[in-house]
Parts: sequence; structure tokens; C-alpha cells
Amino acid sequence: MELESILLPGVDPKRPMVIAGPCSAETEEQVLTTARELAANGIKIMRAGIWKPRTKPGGFEGVGSEGLAWLKRVKQETGMYVSTEVATQKHVYEALKFGVDLLWVGARTTANPFAVQEIAEALQGVDIPVLVKNPVNPDLELWIGALERLYNVGITKLGAIHRGFSSYDKKIYRNLPQWHIPIELKRRIPNLPIICDPSHIGGKRDLIQPLSQQAMDLGYEGLIIETHCDPDHAWSDAAQQVTPVRLKEILDNLIIRDSKQTTEDLSELRKQIDEIDDQLLEILAKRMRISREIGTYKKEHNMTVVQTDRYGHILNSRIVQANEMGINSDFMRIILEAIHEESVRQQVIILNK
Ligand code: PEP
Ligand code: MN
Repeated sequence: MELESILLPGVDPKRPMVIAGPCSAETEEQVLTTARELAANGIKIMRAGIWKPRTKPGGFEGVGSEGLAWLKRVKQETGMYVSTEVATQKHVYEALKFGVDLLWVGARTTANPFAVQEIAEALQGVDIPVLVKNPVNPDLELWIGALERLYNVGITKLGAIHRGFSSYDKKIYRNLPQWHIPIELKRRIPNLPIICDPSHIGGKRDLIQPLSQQAMDLGYEGLIIETHCDPDHAWSDAAQQVTPVRLKEILDNLIIRDSKQTTEDLSELRKQIDEIDDQLLEILAKRMRISREIGTYKKEHNMTVVQTDRYGHILNSRIVQANEMGINSDFMRIILEAIHEESVRQQVIILNK
């Protein structure tokens, strides 16, 4: 993809791009009070949900187009840029009519190609930055597909928002980060800016600082953080919103890493890693060859592929051994299970030949 920068004029390109504001626009007073406090704390781009996709009916579904006039006032009074989520063609036309500067596609919408296609068609010929949140389900292709639909109508100021992925049982996070998915997105589309949404990943205000730092450590280009003048009384997502003053503290505490720094000093170590990876591959190939030989033996003797006792023994003894060598047990278990699964697959092929 040939992308243009999503940076809006006047926004410092050396700092992470920060978008902050309430989950939802609630009243004109709440929007303007929050906006003034954000502007006083140096924020340049405000967010506010105008149309809210809610899991169940009966929740607050957003103030609708009325709130767009409040955002227009924010621009006039504070000079901040404003942004909102769009989920339908009508949302796009209304937001553009009121001069919204940046749009994003929400996680539930990204998961629906029909909806994304409609939004894309409404944006044809419009020069505006558009950010695409990850779909609620951990499907990288769906995320890329949504970006491609927008790119195909000529939107080149594109970015991605990592807001985490739904899971059935919520423990620490409201939405599991699964950092490897946005990392893989960056590998596939290297010039695509990625913005972290620690508010929706964490679901709790205490997690915003550590999640934001992790995003900076991974070289993310920006943050979108839910910020409200009176977080505890927010009409949606109260537990994860912070005040503009707290936001400023969070941002001031961040350590911003330099992704452009030269990596010459690392080249020797990287060479060693390359060599070790070569060895790992050779060893794995050898292990698979032996597995296939065992498969041939099992076929000749009419044995089943999986010998449960043996597998249990391998798993446990190797994990103990790994632990002694300073390797994390959960990590080792994943590796061993993957190797075992592939060995079984190879042997099943042989048995059925
Ligand atoms: C939001 O940004 O308030 C929102 C609804 O987020 P998501 O689409 O990530 O759930
Ligand atoms: Mn929200």
C-alpha cells in the first residue's frame, strides 16, 4: 500500500499521536468542559463517540447527529481537531458535513465486510485520515481486508487502532491484547501507523499507563485514550476513563523509545540469532524425519499413532528440563505441543498412504 501520513498539520511528529476524549458525547456541557481541559493539557485531537454500538439494547446508544454540532464548537473554541466513529454511510455524510477531521471504524464494524464496503464507498474521493480498529475477533485478514476496502476507494491516510480482542472469560483485560497480531500487521504493511487503545484493551483506568508504555516499547505511532471531565459518572465505559489531568500525567511518564536509532551495535548479536535459527530449523527437520520413520514402523506393526503415556512423559520431563535451563514453562509447553501436533499429522499421513 502506498500510504500518506495521517498526521494533521500542527501536530508534533516527534511525539506519539494522541487522540483523547470521552467514550461518548453526552451533553454539550460535558463535551465542551472535557475539550477545554484537554486543550489546556496540550491535547490536539479530541475523540467522542456520537453513535455508540452497544452489546445489548437499552444502553446509551449515543446522542447522534446533535452531538456533531458540539464537536464543531470544540473546533471553533479550542482549535483542536475532532474525531468520531462511523459505522454507516449516514454517519460518514453527517460527520463530514460537520467538519470532523478524522474518522475511525469500530471493532464491531471492521468485522463486517458489507458495512466496511459501504463506509468506503461513502468516502470515495474524500481526503481524510481514517483509522481502522481491529475486528473483535482475532482475524488479521479481516483487519487487513477492511484497510484494503478503504485503500481501494482512494483513502491513503490510513492507520490501524489496536483495541484488543474479545474473549469468553475476561480476566485481567477487557479485551485480550494479543500483541503478536498488530506486530504481524506491521510486518505485512510496514508503513501503516498503529495506534494503541489501552482504554478498551484494559477496561480499567489503572491499566492505561502500563499498556501505553508497552505500546511505546513496541514502537507504536500513537495512543487513543478515553478521557472524561467526570469519569465516574460517564454514561458509557466509566471504569476505563481518566480525567484530562490524569491523562497528562500518564503521557508525561511515558518513556518514548527511538525506533530510528542505528542498529549497528546489534548486528553481531543478530548474526548469532540468524545462525541459531538455522540450527533450530535443521534440528526440527531432523526431528520430523525421525517422526516419519516411527510412523512407518507403526504402520508396519498396525499400531495407533498417539501413545498417550509416551506423550505425557515427553511433555512433563521436557518442561522440567526447560525450567532448569531458565526457559518459561508455558512457552515450552506451547512449543512442545506444536511439535507434537505436527509429528502426529505427519504420521497420520504415513498411516493412510
Ligand atoms: C469506542 O472507541 O468507544 C468503541 C466503541 O470502541 P470499540 O469499537 O473498540 O469497541
Ligand atoms: Mn468506549
